[in-house]
Amino acid sequence: MPHPAQQNDLHLPRKLVLEKVKNKDPAHRFGSPDDRQPEQMILVLDPETGKTWGFVVVDNTRRGPGLGGIRVAPDLTLMEVRRLAHAMTLKNSAALLPFGGGKSGLIVDPVNLNTHPGMKRDLIGLFAEALFEIDSYITAPDMGTDEKVIQQIYEIYSERLNTPHHLRGGAGRPPQNGGIPIDDWGLTAHGVVAAIKTVEAMDATFTLKGARVVIQGYGNVGAPTAGKLQQAGALIVGASDIHQALWNSRGLDVTELNRARSGPKGLAKYSGTTEKSFPPQNLDWLLEAPCDILIPAARPDAITARNADRIQCRMVFQGANAPSNKMTEYYLQNHRGIISYSDFIVNVGGVMGCAVELKMNIDSEYKNKVLATGEEGRPYLENLISKTISNNVKTIYQGMAQGDGSDAIFRDEALKLAEECLANPRRIQL
Ligand code: NAD
Repeated sequence: MPHPAQQNDLHLPRKLVLEKVKNKDPAHRFGSPDDRQPEQMILVLDPETGKTWGFVVVDNTRRGPGLGGIRVAPDLTLMEVRRLAHAMTLKNSAALLPFGGGKSGLIVDPVNLNTHPGMKRDLIGLFAEALFEIDSYITAPDMGTDEKVIQQIYEIYSERLNTPHHLRGGAGRPPQNGGIPIDDWGLTAHGVVAAIKTVEAMDATFTLKGARVVIQGYGNVGAPTAGKLQQAGALIVGASDIHQALWNSRGLDVTELNRARSGPKGLAKYSGTTEKSFPPQNLDWLLEAPCDILIPAARPDAITARNADRIQCRMVFQGANAPSNKMTEYYLQNHRGIISYSDFIVNVGGVMGCAVELKMNIDSEYKNKVLATGEEGRPYLENLISKTISNNVKTIYQGMAQGDGSDAIFRDEALKLAEECLANPRRIQL
């Protein structure tokens, strides 16, 4: 019987090694401070064939080691990882966490990997051995990876470091191993909803009750966000995953969406009523559907110049990382009256969970304080996330209101806030 790798035309390397990318990138000559150079950009290579299997970017370590997820995607690029690593710097800074920004990833189809657990374990093992050389990067889950992957890496590091308690091996581990169940508790969704509620409290013309919501990417961020918003009285009129995009102006059935999500064909097996339903080649139609709140919660670049003219929402809350870019957000806010609430402000719930987990792992007094709030610390975290995001959204809003009448957008004020926090690494909450 052929090795699973051969069945999938995916031949695992014997070893993975790191190679620093020499910076020939002209971005620094044309870009804004927002896209300043990362500290390290690294290729992860098979030394025998020279094939690139992945990337690691350590963006900035001024506040601490770069903390950010491992993404597994067939079309992953160094540029994507670099943007995501930079977003982690801004995110960890704005949330006043003692961590910098980093990100890594493998160029592999996660569906392929998940159907061959042995091959997945081998590849993650090789990746972990290579990552160990970078002591300024801490892993976490991202699209295509989960708590088991992080636990595997953590154990490899434990062996190398000869201790079961360390900061280096990653956060977002299984609860039975001392991790915080970030996705099961819907911590990122909790934060996205906290941001929406903060806007509701400040904007007399907007109420969540009856608001129409579209969610692109019905996954670990999108699905619990839908549930929480529905509980708050909103109507989920659109939802999509990689299999199907669904639309019903009278509202989709969230219970049925969640049932369909758990199956292999995802939302393609939704059996509730729809007015429109789109197959994989037309998923992006949903981004242009009429609604009050649009939540991109899938891959980068959902909203760009290609569709900015056709977006029909009132506001965008960036559940995903880098779902848009500054130029598009400028156009949306100043020409279409649509505010896009930046990823590094609204989707920090997950990384805050990671930061708390890391601190609990090495500080028993802090651990006791968190656990004393009951239910294994969930109220502590939800409170911390709501407070952080709400304060940041209010500060940014005030900054925009007090502006000099220029056309500064939400992202400009959000960047100012994150840069101030980055410049003051001693300001830490936890
Ligand atoms: P996930 O893999 O659980 O869910 C992603 C969903 O998007 C899946 O349902 C997938 O089918 C769908 N999808 C992929 N491409 C799509 C497309 N073109 N159109 C519509 N749907 C598509 O991932 P997740 O953890 O929910 O993360 C989603 C995004 O949020 C990512 O950008 C991630 O980096 C970001 N994020 C996640 C967290 C977290 O705590 N999970 C925290 C912060 C940011």
